[in-house]
Amino acid sequence: MKVFADQAHQALHDPSGYLVDGVMQPNPEQPERMERLLAGVAAGGHEVIAPADHGLAPLAAVHSPAYIKFLSTIHKRWSRNPATAPEIFPNIHPDRRTASYPTSAIAQTGFHVADMSCPIGEHTWDSARWSANCAVSAAQAVEAGDPMAYALCRPPGHHCFSDLAGGFCYLNNSAIAAQYLRKTHDRVAIIDVDLHHGNGTQGIFYERSDVYTMSIHADPDRFYPFFWGHAHEVGEGAGHGYNLNIPLPRGTADDGFMKGLAGGLEDIKAFAPGAVVIALGLDAYENDPFGGLSVSTPGFAVMAKMLADLGLPTVIVQEGGYLCDELGDNLHSFLTGFEEARA
Ligand SMILES: [Zn+2]
Repeated sequence: MKVFADQAHQALHDPSGYLVDGVMQPNPEQPERMERLLAGVAAGGHEVIAPADHGLAPLAAVHSPAYIKFLSTIHKRWSRNPATAPEIFPNIHPDRRTASYPTSAIAQTGFHVADMSCPIGEHTWDSARWSANCAVSAAQAVEAGDPMAYALCRPPGHHCFSDLAGGFCYLNNSAIAAQYLRKTHDRVAIIDVDLHHGNGTQGIFYERSDVYTMSIHADPDRFYPFFWGHAHEVGEGAGHGYNLNIPLPRGTADDGFMKGLAGGLEDIKAFAPGAVVIALGLDAYENDPFGGLSVSTPGFAVMAKMLADLGLPTVIVQEGGYLCDELGDNLHSFLTGFEEARA
């Protein structure tokens, strides 16, 4: 299958740290992830293509103008003050999202950055933009008739809301791909299999019935992103009944994961989408450093077959999955499993 990646741009974003238990630790969303994932792509012999530059329009279709303006300019504005650190972290947040929009750089950072895992460095905007370009190019390939395409998006996207970065994510690549697919399909489904709930994706489409959002993940009761991902969150207004969360107990292995996924896929079939976006996190893996679930390497091929058997045009968008020896193997297992099921 076609694989879209642009290492020259996407590896520039190199976040230094994130806050865990009150301690600044090395940020796990490292450029090396991209090398490991590309090794997994190479193992399957897939064709790697540089994405086109699609400009701001596909991003603006899901992100607010204020947010795009913020993300694209904030580092330059921040750096005008010689006292500032090389990366931007928030230190004040509004208590309500409806509070007045501020003009100062640090206040805007508090408005647009949810947590301490999303430092904005000199190259963050460039890498995030090209990550999103991969998602759009993959969606375009599928629109043009490819049965499937894979976007090697890094940085990832599913924790990013329309105007709020979070959890290593700056632009919501899966949402951007789904919105792009809406040009030709009345109904599109996003199926998020990352270890963590896809809270940003849920938030973007929460009041819409044209994009169905489903996420299977470790129970957020005591796990990131905590405030979202519970089974009772089903959508609001026109979107009521168009969001499905499947929280799993910590440590759930292949059998439990596939059982949960199979149940969710029945709802996806009932929605009858014209195309699907798979938000492919590989961090549900048993040896992923986040240690939330226990999916095996062959398990990713089983998961891929279940998703491929929907028989729909599919854009696969990379989300999480962190440095471990098997990161590339897990991607290879998924992509090859998907392709073989469709052969
Ligand atoms: Zn994740």
